[in-house]
Amino acid sequence: MSVAWARLRPCAAAHSPRGAVAGRRLVLARRPVFFPGASRRTLLTLAIESSCDDTCVAILDKRPTTGAARLLFNRKITSDNRDFRGVHPLNAVVSHTAALAPLLRDALASLPEVLARASGHGGSERGERGPEDARHRLWAAGALRRKPDFVTVTRGPGMTSNLATGLNTAKGLAAAWDVPLVGVNHMQAHALTPRLVSALAKDAATPAQASEAASTDAHEPAFPFLSLLVSGGHTLLVLSRSLYDHEILAQAMNIAIGDMIDKCARNIIPASELAGMDNVMYGPLFERFAFPSAAKPEDYDYTPPARRADEIKIFDSGLGWTLTPLLASTSAMAYDFAGFHSQVLRVVEARPDMGIEERRFLAQHTMRLAFEHLASRLLLALKSNPEAMEGVRTVVVAGGVASNQYLVHILRSMLAVRGYEYLTINSPPPALCTDNAAMIAWAGMEMYEAGYSSNMGILPLRKWPVDPRAEGGGIMGADGWVQNTDDR
Ligand code: AMP
Ligand code: ZN
Repeated sequence: MSVAWARLRPCAAAHSPRGAVAGRRLVLARRPVFFPGASRRTLLTLAIESSCDDTCVAILDKRPTTGAARLLFNRKITSDNRDFRGVHPLNAVVSHTAALAPLLRDALASLPEVLARASGHGGSERGERGPEDARHRLWAAGALRRKPDFVTVTRGPGMTSNLATGLNTAKGLAAAWDVPLVGVNHMQAHALTPRLVSALAKDAATPAQASEAASTDAHEPAFPFLSLLVSGGHTLLVLSRSLYDHEILAQAMNIAIGDMIDKCARNIIPASELAGMDNVMYGPLFERFAFPSAAKPEDYDYTPPARRADEIKIFDSGLGWTLTPLLASTSAMAYDFAGFHSQVLRVVEARPDMGIEERRFLAQHTMRLAFEHLASRLLLALKSNPEAMEGVRTVVVAGGVASNQYLVHILRSMLAVRGYEYLTINSPPPALCTDNAAMIAWAGMEMYEAGYSSNMGILPLRKWPVDPRAEGGGIMGADGWVQNTDDR
């Protein structure tokens, strides 16, 4: 049986205006922040992500004084969706249930070992001085190890049962270890990923760089910054003003760009080349198929449209088919990738004997028009609201599609030709752009250091908008936040 499941991604629900969150709101007063382990030199969290089809666990260690962070563990197991041509929700829950505990067992073996002291009480972590209280230690993988200071987990948005697998496990760990729980927003975590990247770079810095970095614990990029979140489940342009304030400037009307790319790839790439695939993520193959040897920007032979009028011209292939730029006749802050997929499908269906070179040509222009559509909404946002954009120096491009080099090239070229060359494009490494638990750990770290954790009764949130202007009040509008008040 071949069932064409819609790709249900956690992030797809994130921006729903109907994402009301039941419960009381926490009124946030800026009070002095206390967090468990503040007196120690680093903060350690174990994080779980299970909002969609990836079961992910990470362990992150951060030095609050310098902002440097280290990933001690970061791994994921993806459910096998080949029979379903997309994410099958039930299949993914089964996969989480099977994969999470073994993954956690592996992760615990990466916790820093603690050396027992000869006196029999206290202990000191390798490389660190000072006694460690017994309550900060646990036994795992045959050794005494440092216990995480708190457990982080994705609370939403996402598929409820999938989220619940991770959330319930995280609650169990937090209860057993007697440490706080931090339930974070998956989309907030995507938006904060570049700050994780800069924290990891600080840890990897040379001694000279490290002493310079040590003078500031500020994370890069600084707020405000723009993020283009482009993945299998979402296409969002977000203005991040603070840890909790992420305003959605444009979003998908229908399917996400990654979904569109996967569909177009299936239609355009010859079946013989798809046959060897062991997953349904066709994006990387589509990029290689379109540009088998592009290594440098000039290899793309790309001329950016100098004006909006150029951008919306119908593309005539000269081979008997055309492609119309997306939402050409409107400046609505939306993305229409379903409409574009229909156009591409019509071209392919009309030419069943299309040769490989023509298929490659079609793949190149499919990507070009899709990526120019992304750029067009970014340019509209920059132009239409210059006050809101004051201080913005960075455009973060995150999500699985962000690893596409042609996309980065098109964005950079279009920003430059339209007078925004001062904006830096920051693209986190692909492994941190796709769903992962390292980004969840980082979001938990930032929330925790800002003074927040979650009560143990929190429930998964299928919808949880990141925008405080949305119904439900955004990240801090969710019930269950508690303020850290004691130093454990
Ligand atoms: P995510 O939902 O963030 O895990 O990202 C997965 C999506 O990114 C899938 O739809 C992939 O096909 C897409 N993707 C990954 N790599 C690329 C690439 N190099 N070019 C285009 N799309 C990609
Ligand atoms: Zn995601």
